[in-house]
Amino acid sequence: MSDCIFCKIIQKEIPSTIVYEDDDMLAFKDIHPAAPVHLLLIPKKHIASLQELSEQDAGLIGKMMLAVPKIAAQNGLQGGFKTHINTGKNGGQEVFHLHIHIMGKPA
Ligand code: AMP
Ligand code: ZN
Repeated sequence: MSDCIFCKIIQKEIPSTIVYEDDDMLAFKDIHPAAPVHLLLIPKKHIASLQELSEQDAGLIGKMMLAVPKIAAQNGLQGGFKTHINTGKNGGQEVFHLHIHIMGKPA
């Protein structure tokens, strides 16, 4: 999606502080952190929100969920963390490229 800010981050057209990247996903620091550690994990495939997920994304979402605790631990959150996903306008979603917020305080 050419007008999607997170797709531009994936393409490195917009700077970000990347903390994890593989073929399927990217994690970077939230520009307005709401916690000492506040990361966003996104699929490289443009999926607008949970509401646009399809059965064929099951493997991708599974991989992302498995990556969450690893990325959290690599960023000092071995003791635990919070995750949240805003979905849709009424769910407070501002950027319409699926993202998992990973937040916490290093132990
Ligand atoms: P949401 O309300 O779940 O859509 O949250 C969007 C999040 O993206 C917010 O926490 C923003 O601070 C964050 N954000 C927006 N633009 C950028 C950017 N260029 N780099 C990093 N984080 C961003
Ligand atoms: Zn996108």
